[in-house]
Amino acid sequence: MGENFASANLGKFESLDQFVFEAPEVKIKREGKVFLKELLNLTGAEISFNKLSAHESISFYHTHQQNEEIYIFLKGTGEFQIDGKIFPVREGSIVRVDPAGERCYRNCGDTDLYLIVIQVKAGSYEGRTIQDGVAVRKRVSWEQ
Ligand code: ZN
Repeated sequence: MGENFASANLGKFESLDQFVFEAPEVKIKREGKVFLKELLNLTGAEISFNKLSAHESISFYHTHQQNEEIYIFLKGTGEFQIDGKIFPVREGSIVRVDPAGERCYRNCGDTDLYLIVIQVKAGSYEGRTIQDGVAVRKRVSWEQ
């Protein structure tokens, strides 16, 4: 941990099973899901890394109150469902879901499905990257 940053290494994607997400109040217990908010002290987003084994399904729909979600599929093949509409997802697929969208997804393949989910407050993003960025006027240390 440094003053202006936090970093971590989750290990290999295949080993995401070591992480177990539990929310007893809604009877959820899932291996292969890890949230990064506490780990990295995130202040504007929640991010999770997810592994679904072959033919594993998320067996419930959910919506959000304020947050939109961005699903980034890294490997594997699956199906995504939003408000009854079903479409295929695979490596390279990215899906944004409005807070009210009733969503779930599943792994349809014979291999693991890996994805990252980013949760941010809908409508909260103000400055685009290039307007928010500030150039630091000094030489990059490893190029000296
Ligand atoms: Zn969600």
